[in-house]
Amino acid sequence: MQQLYQAKDRVEAQLLRDYLADSGVEAVVLGDYLSGAAGELPAMQFPVIWLVHDGDRYRAERLLKQFQHLNREASEADWRCAVCGELSEGQFAICWQCGAERPDIEL
Ligand SMILES: [Zn+2]
Repeated sequence: MQQLYQAKDRVEAQLLRDYLADSGVEAVVLGDYLSGAAGELPAMQFPVIWLVHDGDRYRAERLLKQFQHLNREASEADWRCAVCGELSEGQFAICWQCGAERPDIEL
């Protein structure tokens, strides 16, 4: 297994796990249940997403960036596609018309 990402809380970890699963990438969340298991563990114990299959790494990293982008930009205004000029709604990371990626997304 490979570590993909350290989430800021259990909710984010679960959302990301589901997001990956929707695209066929198997992942598990480890770490958050350790909190309180032993008295000397640090208070900040973040859940970590692990990839079940190492071969999913490249795809999972792309999905992770899309996931973070979607979360951050969910409430943003419409944007115009650089390829075909169509307007798409702020929550979409790709153009609804031609499928081109949103210009400001970093992949
Ligand atoms: Zn387009």
